[in-house]
Amino acid sequence: MRVHLTATAAAAVRRGHPWVYRDGIAGGGGRATGAGDRRRGERAPRGGGGAAATGDVVELSAEGAPFLGRGLWDADSPIAVRVFQRAQAPALDERAIAERLERAFALRDGWFAGGDTTAYRLCNGEGDRVPSLVIDRYDRVAVVRLDGGMLAPWLDRLLPHLARALGARGVRSIGLRARGEAPSGDAPRGDADGKKLAHVHGPPLPDRLFVRETGVAMEVDLARGQKTGAFLDQRDNRARVRALAAGRRRVLNLFSYAGGFSVAAALGGAGRVTSVDSAPAAHATAQRTFRENGVDPAAHDFVTADAFDFLEKARARGDRYDLIISDPPSFAPSERAKPRALGAYRRLHAAVARVLDRGGVLCAASCSSHITAEDFLATLDDATLERDDLRVRAIHGQPEDHPTLPAWWEGRYLKFVVLE
Ligand code: SAH
Repeated sequence: MRVHLTATAAAAVRRGHPWVYRDGIAGGGGRATGAGDRRRGERAPRGGGGAAATGDVVELSAEGAPFLGRGLWDADSPIAVRVFQRAQAPALDERAIAERLERAFALRDGWFAGGDTTAYRLCNGEGDRVPSLVIDRYDRVAVVRLDGGMLAPWLDRLLPHLARALGARGVRSIGLRARGEAPSGDAPRGDADGKKLAHVHGPPLPDRLFVRETGVAMEVDLARGQKTGAFLDQRDNRARVRALAAGRRRVLNLFSYAGGFSVAAALGGAGRVTSVDSAPAAHATAQRTFRENGVDPAAHDFVTADAFDFLEKARARGDRYDLIISDPPSFAPSERAKPRALGAYRRLHAAVARVLDRGGVLCAASCSSHITAEDFLATLDDATLERDDLRVRAIHGQPEDHPTLPAWWEGRYLKFVVLE
């Protein structure tokens, strides 16, 4: 199967961008054509060679480039091809994919050898050069997530490789969380992104379990949790909050979910931590996490409320905080939603600034790839916050188990700005 690209799409592939959008296919229609030479691991194209089916291996070409690379076809997604390789050899089959997975796992063996962290991303899809395939580890459980549909027909063939490689590392069970398309690369926060978790290998999956993150116990709700269960991309930032919390009297954690930042602040020495989330089930998880770490949840506040409403009431009451963490859901799921998203961040940050003490620290996060760091900083400027005492102390992002590619800017979604 051959797919001929426009000059623009071909240039992106040469830079190493792993996605070919449907409008990047020359001649329009977004269909892969031609019988091509079928390789091991390929599936027969639908309709006798006329059109490719989701999961088919396609060869990419462009004007003056008879072979540009190889990828997998997706008949339904706006991303028509995810590009796996630029070289002719080896063939793109399950063994080639399994080798890349093994490489991704082996890297992490070194990073998390100490046992302080038992939950981390084993494979970050495009960022580990295994497009579409995300695998998160929760101690003895691995949760696989497929972005788009092209790897679904491969799963049966990949599973034995996965079970072997993960089993050697102490993973007993594998679950699969199928997910819809996320062409933005965003990590959704608060979206109902998770279809039910399906059990695909090993002993039955527990509904929830405790993992360790930088030495801190954390309950993960596999059955009902968001993303693959937890927001592992904030691990390093949670450790930073723990360090920032020393000596703080009142901490406010907005969009607190399972309370990761809250317990970090409490363990770091904060006096009283207020967690605000619109989902009551998240607070139950957070409270079990507090107890597991020897922190009495009764000494802290868990508020089920809309964050904007909460901030308005807190201001009216005259409540002030000396450390505030704000990690909202993605306000900009698409480029089109960007102006509105920037307005929402501005409103949020203005309301936060009104309850932040002089001398306080504000940690503001955004998980939208369409909002650049500069865009995001503009929602924290003096005019927005109506104060001129804060400085940008640091700008952090996602941890090293969430690698990206130079050309794949969509993968660098997380901003974590520390203002003081
Ligand atoms: N900071 C968390 C992740 C946040 S996920 C962590 O480190 O794990 C975003 C959370 O925001 C979700 O739990 C969702 O329930 C909550 N949420 C979404 N909209 C909200 C709103 N308007 N007010 C309060 N919480 C909201």
